[in-house]
This record gives sequence, C-alpha cells and structure tokens, in this order.
Amino acid sequence: MAELPHYDLVIIGGGCAGFSLASKLSEYGEKAPKVLILEQRKNYTNDRTWCFWDIDHPAYQSLASHAWSTFEVANRERVHHFDCNQHPYLMLESQHFYEAAIKQISNHPKIQLMLGQEVLSAPINTDQGWHISTAHTVFTARQVIDTRPPKKINPQDSVLWQCFVGYEIQTQSDCFSPEKMVLMDFDHTFEHGLAFIYILPTSEKKALIEYTVFSENIIPKQQLITRLKKSITQKIDRQPYELLRVEHGTLPMGYTLTQQYKASTYLYAGLFAGAARPSSGYAFQRIQSWANKCAQSIVSEQKLYASPKEQWVQSSMDGLFLNVIKNNPTRAASLFEDLFNRCELNTVVKFMSDQATLGDYFRIIKSLPPGPFIKALPGFVIQKIFHRLGWAK
Ligand SMILES: Cc1cc2nc3c(=O)[nH]c(=O)nc-3n(C[C@H](O)[C@H](O)[C@H](O)COP(=O)(O)OP(=O)(O)OC[C@H]3O[C@@H](n4cnc5c(N)ncnc54)[C@H](O)[C@@H]3O)c2cc1C
Repeated sequence: MAELPHYDLVIIGGGCAGFSLASKLSEYGEKAPKVLILEQRKNYTNDRTWCFWDIDHPAYQSLASHAWSTFEVANRERVHHFDCNQHPYLMLESQHFYEAAIKQISNHPKIQLMLGQEVLSAPINTDQGWHISTAHTVFTARQVIDTRPPKKINPQDSVLWQCFVGYEIQTQSDCFSPEKMVLMDFDHTFEHGLAFIYILPTSEKKALIEYTVFSENIIPKQQLITRLKKSITQKIDRQPYELLRVEHGTLPMGYTLTQQYKASTYLYAGLFAGAARPSSGYAFQRIQSWANKCAQSIVSEQKLYASPKEQWVQSSMDGLFLNVIKNNPTRAASLFEDLFNRCELNTVVKFMSDQATLGDYFRIIKSLPPGPFIKALPGFVIQKIFHRLGWAK
C-alpha cells in the first residue's frame, strides 16, 4: 500500500482560526512544523466583516479598511453620540485577511493549504497518528486542530444566539456620514429577542447595514432579511439602493458544549471552542491571541494550546448579563443605553475587548441599575451549578 501523506500538524478549516494559527506558525521560519490546512471551500470571498476597537495594538490593525472615531447608540427617540477618538472602531474585510494569510502561508515551504477538501468525519487515532479522510485522500498527522463548527446546532446549546444579516448597499445620493457608525439602534417592534440595527458607513453613499437579534432561539435568515429591508428603507428615506453584498451569521453567546477531546494531540479551536466572547459573540481578537500562544506552544514544546477559560469576574458578569437579556429583552436596550451613558467610554471599550481590570468591572456594575441583575441572579447561579455538574443548561 502506498504510504499516506504525513504531517506534523493538520488544521481542519482554513477560516479565521486556521489561517491565524498557520500565519503565526509561519513566522517561526524553519522551526515551524510541517503543516497541512484542509479547507472545504474552493475559493474565498468577502464573506464577513470583522470589527474591533483599536486598543493595545490589535492584530491585523494595519489591514483595516475603515476606522470610525465617533458612533451613536439610539434607544426609542433618544440618540446618544460618543467620541471614540482614543480607541477608534476598526473594520477588517475578510477578503483582505484571507489574501494576507494565503500570501504568508504560500511563502513558507513547510505550510500547505489544500482547497476543496471537506473532512468527512471525525479523524481516527491510530498507531501511526491521526488519520484524516477527505473525499479524495487520507492524510496522517501527529497532531490535529479542528476548527469546524458543529454539524448540527441546537438552540439549547447556548444561553443566547446572536443572529444577523447584513446588506452592503450603495445609494445614489448621499445618505451616510462615513466618520460616524451606529453601534446599536434598538428596534422595539421585534418581540422574540433584543433587536437592533448596526450601521457601518464607509462613504456618503455606501454602508454595511445589519439587523441583529440576541435571542434564545435561532432566528431564520429570511425573517432577519424582512426586518433588515424595512429598516434600510426607513434609514435611507425610501431611496433606491443597489445591493452589493450580503453577510449572515449565527454566533453563540454562552455556548455550553465547549469541550476538548480526551487526547492531548487533538484540539478543537475557533468560534465554538471557547473563542466567542459570551456577552458579544465576538471572536476575532480572541482568536488572534489564542493563535499567538498556540503557535508558541507548538514550536517550543510540541504541545497544543486551548483557548483559556474565562476569568471568573468576566465570566460571571457575562453570564449575568446574558440572563438579564434573556429574561427581559425589552429592558436590556435601556441597560446598554445606561452602560454607554453612565460609564466612561474607555472602561466600556476595555470591557468589550477583554481588557477590563477589577476597577473597570466595579465601574461597570456601578453604572447599571441593580434590579434586573438581582432578579437574574438565581437563574444564573442554577445554570452555573448545572454546568459544573455537567448537566444540560
Ligand atoms: C458574518 C460574520 C461577521 C462576524 N463579525 C465579527 C466581528 O465583527 N468581530 C468579531 O470579533 N467576530 C465576528 N464574527 C465571529 C467570528 O470572529 C467569526 O465567525 C470567525 O470567522 C470564527 O473563526 P473560525 O475559524 O472559528 O470559523 P470560520 O472562520 O468560519 O472557519 C471555519 C472554516 O472551516 C471550514 N470547514 C467547515 N467544515 C469543514 C469540513 N468538514 N472540512 C474542511 N473545512 C471545513 C469552513 O469552510 C471555514 O473556512 C463574525 C462572524 C460572521 C459569520
């Protein structure tokens, strides 16, 4: 029998986590292991837009195509304006990230990307290492990093879901201010969760507009599209527009099934393996920080490194926050409004970017009304106990 192609490390999935890790490994030159990335898609498109605050030199900052130094949060008739000049909000288009990663990887002789390779099942652990099968070939590897999302997503596997659809549109006349984005404009007519519109204008005539819902259930894409179209019509005053691009996401907020394989040579990574921040579903910068540490650990100790568990203060605050949103989505809009209004913006930005200190947590708690949190506390504690015991949520 012909020998199977063998690698030190196979990364399943050439998306954000897979490419971030491979790019980091490539920086180690000849010390990098022999890596194969197996990706099911045949080509890359601009399928998502990553945004993050410019705090403490975020990764891929230099590839950002737009930065906003002002933004607004709107709840009912109240519109609050904020100046985020100190930590602008950055936009990274995924096509720029994919292009940069592919260029970096292809320059490295020991790192290989294979497209159109869907890994069909769970890899098998054998005496020769892991066997990973695609429709075309079987590969073997000493270590595997698996970034595939779960095949089937059950609504009860996460405390909440962030479901959204975004349209990038072009209008004929000026409709937007490219220096100001809309972080949250709450829609109180939606009854099945906390809904808001998010607007990222990149010129007077062009913007990415998203309709987002935080909900216990997964909201069907078509329902989000109907809402989004209605919101766009209102926002641009019924003017005609051209649809340039669509993006869609269902992000876990407080995913309860995050667990690792028993073998130390197999690691789950990415959005569903602890990378998503429970209170926001955001993962891009968390993935970068994981990729950095994981590459270091692979090169220096040949060990895989999992996303670290949340610090207890952050995980407790996120957990409580999620329970408040879940129990009372209508009230949650005013909590976000209070958070931005009563708390210093730097503190909120640090909180959202995983950089809050104990003092910041204290300031955030002080800015919020205690009532809803006290009410949510028993549910949250029960959830924690169930989780500890390994029972369902
Ligand atoms: C539209 C959208 C917008 C987002 N915006 C933000 C944001 O602004 N800020 C933020 O922090 N986070 C954001 N996120 C969340 C998160 O950062 C992204 O989902 C990120 O791409 C997660 O990285 P990942 O590697 O886990 O998953 P992915 O990037 O989805 O990568 C997984 C890869 O695995 C491949 N794959 C799947 N199954 C197989 C298989 N069987 N065989 C081989 N390959 C397979 C997929 O094709 C994909 O390339 C957004 C997510 C989406 C969907």
